[in-house]
Amino acid sequence: MIAFPYGLPHLVAAAPLLPPALETREIVAVALAALAALLLAIALLRLRAPAPRPLAAPPPGALAQLAGGLAKTRDRLGLAIKRALGREPSQATLDEIEAALIEADVGVAATQAILEDVRRAFAEGRARTAGALLDELKKDLRVKLDSGEAGLREAPAPPTVVLVVGVNGAGKTTSIAKLAAWLRARNKRVLLCAADTFRAAAVEQLSIWAARIGAGIVKGASGADPAAVAFDATEAALARGADVLIVDTAGRLHTHQNLMAELSKIKRAIQKRIPGAPHEVLLVLDATTGQNAIAQAREFLRATDVTGIFLAKLDGTAKGGIIVAIREQLGLPVKFVGIGERPEDIQPFDAEKFVEALFA
Ligand code: GDP
Repeated sequence: MIAFPYGLPHLVAAAPLLPPALETREIVAVALAALAALLLAIALLRLRAPAPRPLAAPPPGALAQLAGGLAKTRDRLGLAIKRALGREPSQATLDEIEAALIEADVGVAATQAILEDVRRAFAEGRARTAGALLDELKKDLRVKLDSGEAGLREAPAPPTVVLVVGVNGAGKTTSIAKLAAWLRARNKRVLLCAADTFRAAAVEQLSIWAARIGAGIVKGASGADPAAVAFDATEAALARGADVLIVDTAGRLHTHQNLMAELSKIKRAIQKRIPGAPHEVLLVLDATTGQNAIAQAREFLRATDVTGIFLAKLDGTAKGGIIVAIREQLGLPVKFVGIGERPEDIQPFDAEKFVEALFA
């Protein structure tokens, strides 16, 4: 039986209007010709579609987004290790793995600790094959990365208050938008507070994001006291029944003392209405700045308590191993990673998923 194309019923319906000479056989012939032309067009379009990237193409399924965001690191670290393991395992294989980890900014101390474990497993015969060595390496990376703390700490009663700190340019505004979008996708009522009153552009940017994401925003006049804006936002969060209040803070103050004083003042203002807040202080770090990000983090740690890291721009670096160094050297949990510029380019950090994505 012939399967008629989608348009045929219309043709048939229109038949009384056609010239009387047009027979049913001719209508069928026209329809078949149209179908053939359609199939030809589809075939041509397929031929013109770009071929998938052979090496760094992300795997399908839940890991795809993370693996896609980690493409640069996978291209460098993941493939270097897979290549090293592509031959009969030997001491040279272990040296190559070590070099690949160092090259990806995992850091000397963490690399040595991981390799010590892998070498022992190799020497003792527990990991002799490429597969077993890779499993051993993945296990060690997972242990190094897993902080046991995932997602946001929640307040005993809403609103949960999240203070976001970090230097300008690290990706703070975008990361706040992502966090808000992530929470909105989980049906949380989100209020943003633009307490970085000296950056008019950042306030404007945050307002645009808030409208797009469906979050409320409280902002002060340009140059207003950030602590006063934070206080107003806390009141508003309570009054409006927000689930989460995210407070943006100034990313550049002239001295360490200024930064410390301002962050303390903001915290005190919030605590006037919600004792025990902020429940989370997230430091946004730019993954593309490598070891500098760690030096920057140390500065912030001297100025205020930080409860977790939001590692932005992980998609922009081939040295994503920095995440191991951050965890190892700062002892703080990485709570979220940013893997693109869109609000949905965020993932709560999960050590297991991360390691899988790295070698996917
Ligand atoms: P802020 O000055 O710290 O508030 O930084 P912004 O949020 O304005 O971000 C600075 C730049 O980094 C912007 O161009 C953002 O689009 C970009 N950016 C932020 N996060 C990411 C990320 O995860 N991946 C990429 N590729 N770009 C990002």
